[in-house]
Amino acid sequence: MNKNIKKVCVFASSSNYLPEVYYTDAKKLGTLLGQNGYDIVYGGSTLGLMWACASEVKNNGGKIYGVMPKKLADMGCKTDNCDEFWLTEGMRERKAHLDKISDAVVALPGGLGTLEELSEMIVQKQLGYNKKPVVILNTNGYYDKLREFFEQMIDEKYANKNVRSLYYFAQTPQEVIDYLKTYVPSELNVDKNAIYSR
Ligand code: AMP
Repeated sequence: MNKNIKKVCVFASSSNYLPEVYYTDAKKLGTLLGQNGYDIVYGGSTLGLMWACASEVKNNGGKIYGVMPKKLADMGCKTDNCDEFWLTEGMRERKAHLDKISDAVVALPGGLGTLEELSEMIVQKQLGYNKKPVVILNTNGYYDKLREFFEQMIDEKYANKNVRSLYYFAQTPQEVIDYLKTYVPSELNVDKNAIYSR
């Protein structure tokens, strides 16, 4: 059991217009996170899969930590339900703070915002800036093509095969929890040869 993981950063869609299956899984994940003693660190909004997940963390005994840039707060996206909330100047400071205060990263299905956040976390880990678990929840097979794309990157030598150890695709919310509980940070080889050889 990994007791060092408490605050889980969730990246997820801001859309309110998705098929129901995605909200159901996001809520399930939030419920399981709360029930298993985790807190959520996220974008701080009332939108989409982010809120579906965060509200259930709260309903199940976990805390909510929100980090949002002023611009989005001014648009009225902010929830008043956070246990702690940080307003940041822009999106970059926001990502840095989400990273700073979290022990793990989970990406639910999402759009460009989610993809950007997820890629940055994987690259941070590749370069040895952190050893956090990075889990991708593949609800409804949403990320099957991303997984194939990652494999194509490796096959065509855009990436070293070691990148496979940087992220984990979970098929169900329960698998996310199991992975977080049993996560053992490995000593990633971050020397030039390990990253840039093929
Ligand atoms: P997207 O996947 O494009 O819907 O963007 C969602 C991701 O970007 C989330 O993980 C958030 O961190 C961030 N984000 C986008 N829109 C918002 C918003 N209105 N409030 C808070 N975070 C947002």
